[in-house]
Amino acid sequence: MSARGTHSLEFFPPRTPEGAAKLRIARRQLAQLKPAFCSVTFGAGGSTREGTLATVLEIRGEGLHAAPHISCVGSTRESLREVLQQYRGHGIRHLVALRGDQPSGTADFGAFRYASELIEFIREETGDWFHIDVAAYPEYHPQARSPQDDLENFRRKIEAGADSAITQYFYNADAYWRFRDDCAAAGIEVPIVPGIMPIASATKLARFSDSCGAEIPRWIRRRLESYGDDTASIRAFGLDVVTDLCGRLLARGAPGLHFYTLNQASLTTTLWQRLGL
Ligand SMILES: Cc1cc2nc3c(=O)[nH]c(=O)nc-3n(C[C@H](O)[C@H](O)[C@H](O)COP(=O)(O)OP(=O)(O)OC[C@H]3O[C@@H](n4cnc5c(N)ncnc54)[C@H](O)[C@@H]3O)c2cc1C
Repeated sequence: MSARGTHSLEFFPPRTPEGAAKLRIARRQLAQLKPAFCSVTFGAGGSTREGTLATVLEIRGEGLHAAPHISCVGSTRESLREVLQQYRGHGIRHLVALRGDQPSGTADFGAFRYASELIEFIREETGDWFHIDVAAYPEYHPQARSPQDDLENFRRKIEAGADSAITQYFYNADAYWRFRDDCAAAGIEVPIVPGIMPIASATKLARFSDSCGAEIPRWIRRRLESYGDDTASIRAFGLDVVTDLCGRLLARGAPGLHFYTLNQASLTTTLWQRLGL
């Protein structure tokens, strides 16, 4: 924990031996930043369940704290119980608990329909063993019926036993502050750490943002589009925008930053160093 908060990193489990080798090299560089913890995503349908655990164990072997994500979509109580036992057996004490997204074409949610039900289950099964982080959406989850509903649903996750939250990424700092104010007014007091997405590619960011409901403000989108294939300019502009966003978030009291590294070291390292974390 630095004087200015708890800063963490997120990875996804590599799918190929080459991806695993590249991630090891990226992690070696990122480990020097001394993150509070590294979280590892958990794919839908259980397809990367072993990959999540293997990556978590590697990270711990390198001397860092690691937190696997766990998602419930498409899973049975029994399979989730097994995952929890497996994590517990390895002495893992921190989880990021999510609903996950239904693969298109399937209708079966599994045992639980929402993350709040998964959190209740984790608490029933394992008591206070795990510190549980959950997802929060300052610009609202795309499936939420209304902002008020989404806040109410966020509250359900905290009441079910979540300890803290990490947000979906955003580039509108005001959305985060408004969300924090709304949480405070609703009596929700857990730390809500902004998720930070470095900007590496304009097209990938636009595609991903559309699907997860994160807005790229018009002035940022237009500038990114204007650089065409000039990756160096996209990255330089992205670094300026995101450094400024992070700096303002920390100055106003965000409890830390969680970086979506996309398994790449350079942008996160530069941001971290520019911010003096
Ligand atoms: C920090 C972070 C990490 C992530 N990691 C992963 C990962 O590792 N693997 C993965 O597959 N996905 C991951 N995701 C994506 C996440 O799974 C999706 O955003 C998913 O669509 C919602 O998950 P949730 O846990 O927020 O769901 P929930 O909190 O269950 O919310 C989902 C939707 O349902 C609504 N809702 C909730 N409860 C109710 C209720 N009782 N009645 C009616 N509506 C309700 C909410 O308002 C929201 O619209 C991550 C997202 C974030 C922000």
